[in-house]
Amino acid sequence: KSRQAQRPEPGKLLPQVKNVIAVSSGKGGVGKSTVAANLAVALAQQGYKVGLLDADIFGPSVPKMFDVEDARPYVEQIGGRDLILPVEKYGIKILSIGFFVDKDSAIVWRGGMASNALKQLIADADWGELDYFILDLPPGTSDIHLTIVQTLAITGAIVVTTPQEVALADARKGIDMFTNEKVNVPVLGLVENMAWFTPAELPENKYYLFGKEGGKRLSEELNIALLGQIPIVQSICEGGDSGKPVALDPDSITGMAFADLARSVV
Ligand code: ADP
Repeated sequence: KSRQAQRPEPGKLLPQVKNVIAVSSGKGGVGKSTVAANLAVALAQQGYKVGLLDADIFGPSVPKMFDVEDARPYVEQIGGRDLILPVEKYGIKILSIGFFVDKDSAIVWRGGMASNALKQLIADADWGELDYFILDLPPGTSDIHLTIVQTLAITGAIVVTTPQEVALADARKGIDMFTNEKVNVPVLGLVENMAWFTPAELPENKYYLFGKEGGKRLSEELNIALLGQIPIVQSICEGGDSGKPVALDPDSITGMAFADLARSVV
């Protein structure tokens, strides 16, 4: 029996969705959700129809990052089927596993529960026509990743890392998961997040808190694209906490970084 995963045919499950982009990371806390959210916003700002699925079952952060924590999606009968209606914010259709659980209690998923819940959020929701469907995957490599690649034809994956050695080691594993024969998803490239810090009063200086250009080196070593280097900036963190991703302002320096990232994936 072939070990090749049964990758679904493009457009079979969601025929009106043109591109599915999975945002992943080897480690937690490297800014994967921040990158996924700002990439979605930047693409929407550039005029594309965008959907965002928060599949991070261990720590769904998209509801907070879009200030829709209290949203509860409606279900509507469409064409004889009950479909979940994504929540809309900043022109983006959003569903999160976080909409369906109590936000203050820990989530304990048993066996296939999480996989089944995610399958429903993909297949039984009214995503409609989308140019880009962004998936914020859990960190690491897991059954959830396998479920998703077997459910939906992923156009390409983006792996987020910091320049730090431990993050790079895990990013390598993440890349390996996508490129191995079982999963076989094209890797669009790496994003090096928290690449450096520049204090406001010393605008010429870059401080490489997590090491210098680790993401760049890894991309060269593995011969994959470096899609962007995003510095540590207070507004990026604050934008996430306040539900206003920095990419909403494409003329700001940080917004520009995500606009460039969006242009590198289209
Ligand atoms: P992950 O999804 O990898 O767990 P998050 O996107 O939740 O990581 O980011 C972790 C924390 O770091 C959040 O508080 C986020 O606001 C912050 N953060 C992420 N990227 C940056 C950045 N470039 N500059 C400043 N803060 C950042």
